[in-house]
Amino acid sequence: MRRKPHLRKHIAVLPCDGAGKEVVPEAIKVLRAAGADLEFQEYDVNADQYMRSGQPIPPDVWNDLQKADAILFGAVGDPRIDDSTYLAGVLLRLRFELDLYVNLRPAKLYDDRLSPLRREERRMVDMLIVRENTEGLYVGMGGRFKKGTEQEVAIQEDLNTYLGVTRIIEYAFGAAKGEVVMVDKSNAMTHAGGLWQQQWKAVAKKHPNIKTRHLYVDAAAMQLVRDPSQFDVIVTGNLFGDILSDLTAELIGGMGIAPSANINPKTGRGLFEPVHGTAPDIAGRGVVNPVGAILSASMMVKHLGYTEMANAIEGAVESAIRAGECTRDIGGDLSTSQAGDAVAKRLKD
Ligand code: ATP
Repeated sequence: MRRKPHLRKHIAVLPCDGAGKEVVPEAIKVLRAAGADLEFQEYDVNADQYMRSGQPIPPDVWNDLQKADAILFGAVGDPRIDDSTYLAGVLLRLRFELDLYVNLRPAKLYDDRLSPLRREERRMVDMLIVRENTEGLYVGMGGRFKKGTEQEVAIQEDLNTYLGVTRIIEYAFGAAKGEVVMVDKSNAMTHAGGLWQQQWKAVAKKHPNIKTRHLYVDAAAMQLVRDPSQFDVIVTGNLFGDILSDLTAELIGGMGIAPSANINPKTGRGLFEPVHGTAPDIAGRGVVNPVGAILSASMMVKHLGYTEMANAIEGAVESAIRAGECTRDIGGDLSTSQAGDAVAKRLKD
C-alpha cells in the first residue's frame, strides 16, 4: 500500500522521568496494536538531559514540539533536582506557551471491585473534571521577601482573567450531557471567585437546556466522597482541579489508571499524560500501572479524530481490568509490560 506521509500525524513522545519512562512505551504498544497510523518521535527531555545542559527543553526540541500534531507525555520530576525550574520549564511551559487551557480529567469506574466506597449504589462514577490549565495559582507570580529570615513574607498570586475564566466555563458546557457543576471558593476568595461567579452566570444563561449547580470546593470534596455518582461535569480552576482529580482517581481505582488531556480546542494543540507523576516509590521495578498512560493515548487519538479507535482502546482496557489482567495496584499480578500486552492483545484479536 502506498503511504501518504502528509496524512500521517506526527506524535512527539516525551516519556521524561521515573514511571513515565515505563508507561509511555506501553501506550505506544497499544496504539500500534489498535492500528494507529501515527509517526512517533521520542525526544530527550528528562532530568539527566537537564542536569547536563541546564535547559529543561533544548531550543531545537521546542521547535519540534510546537509543530507536532500531539504530544504523548509521561511524567516529569527527579529527586536529584530540588528546585522547581525543571518542572516549570517542561510541563508548565508546554501548558502555558502552547496555551493548553483545557485540562480534561475523566474518571470512570471500569470494575465495581475497584471502588473504595461501601455503598454499591453510589459507586458508579462516570464524570469529567474540566480544569483551567493556564492561570490560577500555578502561573508562578509572586515572590519571597526577606527569604530565610524570621521576617520572611511569601506571596503566591492567583491569576484569573476574564478570557481565561470565560473560555473554560464555555468548554465545560460544550462537554456536558447532563449537568455542569462549577466549583470555587468564592465565599472566602472573593476577588477571583467574584469573576468566576460572574462569568459562570453569564455563560450558563446561554445554555438554558443544561442543568447547573455551584459548590464551594470544600462541599465538592465532601460530595465526591459521599456520592460521586451524582456528578457529570465539574468545571473549576487550576489548583482545585488538580486536587479534586487526585480524589476522583482514587474513586476509580487509584492514580495508576487516571488519564488526562491538556488541549487547546481552538488551535487543536494537545498534550496527553497520565494524572500520576513519576511515582518514585515504585518506579523502575516494572510494576507501575500503564493504564493511565494508555487511556491518555486513547484521549489523544480521539482528539485527533479517531473516535472508533479511542473507544476500542477504552473497551480493551475495561476488558483487561475486569479479567484481572492488570498490575497489582488494581488487584492483578502482571508487570507493567504484561499489563500493556493484555490490552494490546485484545485489540489485535
Ligand atoms: P511526583 O513527585 O512525580 O508527582 P508523587 O509520588 O508525588 O510523584 P505520583 O507519582 O502521582 O506522585 O504518585 C502518588 C502515589 O500513587 C504513589 O504512592 C505511587 O506509588 C502511586 N502511583 C502513581 N502512579 C502509579 C502507577 N502508574 N501505578 C501504580 N501506582 C502509581
